Amino acid sequence: MPPAGAPARSGWQVARLTARDVQTATGCTLRFEVRGWPGHRPGQHVDVRLTADDGYQAVRSYSLAAPADGDVIELGVQETAGGEVSPYLAEALPVGAEVEVKGPLGGWFVWTPPGSGPLLLFGGGCGVVPLMAMLRARRAAAAAQEPCVLVYCVRGPEEVWYAKDLAEPGHTEDVRILYTRHAPPGQTRRPGRMTAHDVAGLPAPGAARCYVCGPTGFVEHVAGLLQDTGYPRDRIRTERFG
Ligand SMILES: Cc1cc2nc3c(=O)[nH]c(=O)nc-3n(C[C@H](O)[C@H](O)[C@H](O)COP(=O)(O)OP(=O)(O)OC[C@H]3O[C@@H](n4cnc5c(N)ncnc54)[C@H](O)[C@@H]3O)c2cc1C
Repeated sequence: MPPAGAPARSGWQVARLTARDVQTATGCTLRFEVRGWPGHRPGQHVDVRLTADDGYQAVRSYSLAAPADGDVIELGVQETAGGEVSPYLAEALPVGAEVEVKGPLGGWFVWTPPGSGPLLLFGGGCGVVPLMAMLRARRAAAAAQEPCVLVYCVRGPEEVWYAKDLAEPGHTEDVRILYTRHAPPGQTRRPGRMTAHDVAGLPAPGAARCYVCGPTGFVEHVAGLLQDTGYPRDRIRTERFG
């Protein structure tokens, strides 16, 4: 068996859908059983391949939402209006049905606990999915003693994924939800894009490692802000869902 984080040598593997959990009106998490899954590292993704009865195939990438857990993998799928694959995965694929996955993929946007210094996570929309794998791995490791901040940007409160997990008591990470269009009552920050003001007060550049994930525009905006604030480029890792 290949080491954790290395792709299975055979390429495509059968993945059976075992559970679907609603996260938002258009987003859900899907758990699959993949016999002989080689394991993975937080931040990695898989390619999912669908094959129609006439042989037509479509392949899309989806991030792994949880640390390695035997033969079970968890993905988070945001439904893209008019999209070919995501509405099918989010709405139509029945529990018990099979697709194919290839992975784990990606060797740059990965976090390896413990002892890698303060962890700064920036997620836009469903870009929080691979960050959730890092957060969950951190919770399970000794690295939970090191500072960790998740800055999570969503249009409004109805778009927050993992609301229950993030609010779970007893964890040491600092979760900051920034609303870009409309905020729930009681918020003092005016809705809007992330600014230098939102970055001020985060663990200082230096030992901190930054992970930024989401739509291309979000990733470029946040990576630019971080660099302008003094975070070195080589400590900012990005993943674009564009
Ligand atoms: C490394 C990586 C990780 C990712 N992880 C995730 C993840 O964890 N969760 C997640 O939800 N997504 C993730 N994505 C994005 C995902 O791979 C898909 O791109 C996304 O789900 C959309 O796929 P789709 O088939 O539904 O849409 P597509 O069919 O690819 O369509 C995309 C857009 O193009 C438009 N479009 C399609 N066809 C046409 C046409 N003929 N003319 C005009 N417009 C058209 C659609 O309306 C839609 O807006 C990731 C991407 C990458 C690269």
